[in-house]
Amino acid sequence: MHWSLNLHGVALSDEIFLKDVFSLQIRLFVSWETNSLVVKISQKDNTVDSYKRACNIFSSEYVPLHIWDFSGQTTQIFMNDSINLPNDIPGQLNKEILLELRLHGFSDYMKGRDWRSDEVADKHPSMDSSTYGGSMKMNGSTDYVNPYLTPTNSLQSGTIYRGAGSLGLIGLENLGNTCFMNSAIQCLVHTPELVDYFLGDYRKDINYSNPLGMKGELALAFGELLRKLWAPGAKPVAPRMFKLKLASFAPQFSGYNQHDSQELLAFLLDGLHEDLNRVKCKPYIEAQDVEGRPDEEVAEEYWQNHLARNDSIIVDVCQGQYRSKLVCPVCSKVSVTFDPFMYLSLPLPSTTMRTMTLTVLSTDGTALPCTFTVTVPKSGRLLDLTNALSAACSLRDDETLMLAEVYKCRIFRLLEYPFDSLDLIRDGDRLIAYQLPKGCETSLLVTFIHQQMDMCHNNGEMRLVPQVFGIPLVATLPDVCNGSDIRNAFLKVLNPYLMSPGDVLNIFYDDFANEDSNAATTTATTIMDNDADSDRESRDEANSDTDFQFYLPDAKEAIKNTLIEMNEPIVVSGLPKRLEVLVLWSDNMTKKYDTCLLNTLPEVFKPQFFVRKPEESVSLYKCLKAFMKEEPLGPEDMWYCPICKKPQQASKKLDLWRLPEILVIHLKRFSYSNLFKNKLETFVDFPIYGLDFSPYISHRNSQLSCQYMLYAISNHYGGMGGGHYTAFVHLGNGLWYEFDDEKVLPVGQERIRTSAAYVLFYRRVPDI
Ligand SMILES: [Zn+2]
Repeated sequence: MHWSLNLHGVALSDEIFLKDVFSLQIRLFVSWETNSLVVKISQKDNTVDSYKRACNIFSSEYVPLHIWDFSGQTTQIFMNDSINLPNDIPGQLNKEILLELRLHGFSDYMKGRDWRSDEVADKHPSMDSSTYGGSMKMNGSTDYVNPYLTPTNSLQSGTIYRGAGSLGLIGLENLGNTCFMNSAIQCLVHTPELVDYFLGDYRKDINYSNPLGMKGELALAFGELLRKLWAPGAKPVAPRMFKLKLASFAPQFSGYNQHDSQELLAFLLDGLHEDLNRVKCKPYIEAQDVEGRPDEEVAEEYWQNHLARNDSIIVDVCQGQYRSKLVCPVCSKVSVTFDPFMYLSLPLPSTTMRTMTLTVLSTDGTALPCTFTVTVPKSGRLLDLTNALSAACSLRDDETLMLAEVYKCRIFRLLEYPFDSLDLIRDGDRLIAYQLPKGCETSLLVTFIHQQMDMCHNNGEMRLVPQVFGIPLVATLPDVCNGSDIRNAFLKVLNPYLMSPGDVLNIFYDDFANEDSNAATTTATTIMDNDADSDRESRDEANSDTDFQFYLPDAKEAIKNTLIEMNEPIVVSGLPKRLEVLVLWSDNMTKKYDTCLLNTLPEVFKPQFFVRKPEESVSLYKCLKAFMKEEPLGPEDMWYCPICKKPQQASKKLDLWRLPEILVIHLKRFSYSNLFKNKLETFVDFPIYGLDFSPYISHRNSQLSCQYMLYAISNHYGGMGGGHYTAFVHLGNGLWYEFDDEKVLPVGQERIRTSAAYVLFYRRVPDI
């Protein structure tokens, strides 16, 4: 194995080692990229003296130094040809190992390789973990996890180390609705580049004079928090100071309301950038004319101008650049700008479609209610819904659908206008599509509302009161009819709900045995038979309390409804000819018919959390395409065209130009249209490894890879306002952990891709 580390480290004197300083970490900088090596000094509590000494070392200016390991084993790792041992350190000490080496740099991520134990064991039998961990003692503590330092071949730039252990597994206390903050923090503090940075001497970058920042307070609070979360063996941390500083930077986060983890991330990254901006005096840069120059040149100029004013770890790690192209629809003037970004907000293309569930009811008594779910354009019209539904329920050519919203067992409104927007239908609505014969516009449309007597509190006493139940049934009748026509029509549409004779006979074997068997074997047509009218009239009178009674509702007072007499004509005046009829069910009738079937009516769309539906799945690449799709600006977002000299509804196209090391991807699950905040539960199919941006980047401006690997997810569970945030974080070797406020638990990699994924954190890996 070839060791080619070029270290800028810290020399430690033997005195410090012998006295020891347990809770201090000494940082070694590895020259390539931003990996870091952390050396912990073990044994006994720190004395004030050694603590001070270590502080001196920490605060010393970085000069190239060397690491010295008393075991003699680590040394061989770091000793390359240029290492000279300081004279005052003896070359050999006793075998007690005083050093723990731990890498915070997650190098395997960086290089896109996971270290495998067998590899090391084979090649370096002397360097397995027991060699190090076994002989290391820290305060005699048993909860201490064996540390080890493991080398593995790198692809190009030397040697990769990775550490394993339980560092970085500390939860955050919930201070009251602060899970949104905890989730975002855990994702950030597990971003290797930021870990390296904030465990190091980040204070030297603090910009105390930047009016856009917090004079370093936010960065310091974040740095302190990160260090606490990476300290060994600590208990859950209450991020109070951090929250306080954050709230003074972004006052909307004061108080204890639930917020959006993405919104917090955006503010936090921005605040950290301002606090850590190494540019103390921003140069004024005059915009150059971009007309006629190649995009590559302009993009580079924009980027250099940006860097001249913005130089921080956040820029180094999180910022990319995209091209934004506006085209005037009138004069075709093209405007191109190249803007930096800290994260990508991707739309979920399924927002363009919507699934709707409706119940189709026959009006001729031939079928039971049937529920259909159809997918329609979200911005579609009622016509789109009826067309989709007609196909789904195999509507015949001589039939048509009448859509109605049902509320409290009544038809609340009819959806009659084909060009009405589907926005008028909310997910929580309950819709019925009545199957009607075509050309029934001139017929009388009768809606039957079911009622049954129920014991109710009424003015302090219990009494029987008619209560509505079930879904309204609809029938069409000739416009001249009488009470028995109404009754017959009702019996006809109710026919499918009739229970089998056997069921009913068990309940009534006396009075109704005859009628039951009769009704059960009677087809709808024979019920309609007019010859039976006289028979039925007499029976109605005889059994008025055991049969159905029909009423015309009184608009003002529902109790004084008008009983429909069987032989009296019913006059409906005006158009459209509609009639609402209340049907009072006797107890016997509720047993004769299956009222359960009448009592089920699903909502248009019921979000099911944690349930992954295939039709609601969309790939992350599709979201990327939707992000880059050319779209007209909204009317509230017009562009001032310099040629037309007025605001125009330009078309806008975004393209990725320069990708950052850390790519934060925000999935736009929340929408705020129509005064309502909506959440999409769409499952986004995102890769854990090998997210490849090469087809989506317009310009390869460097040799840098376009391959990315997932390392953290901010999850949101539940609905609007409330809900709960957690984070999934990768700690190397395919090991994922769930950070749920103070709880930290391992989670299988196969379980991390859910429809709760809200913000995805990817990092660049080398091309394979
Ligand atoms: Zn124009």
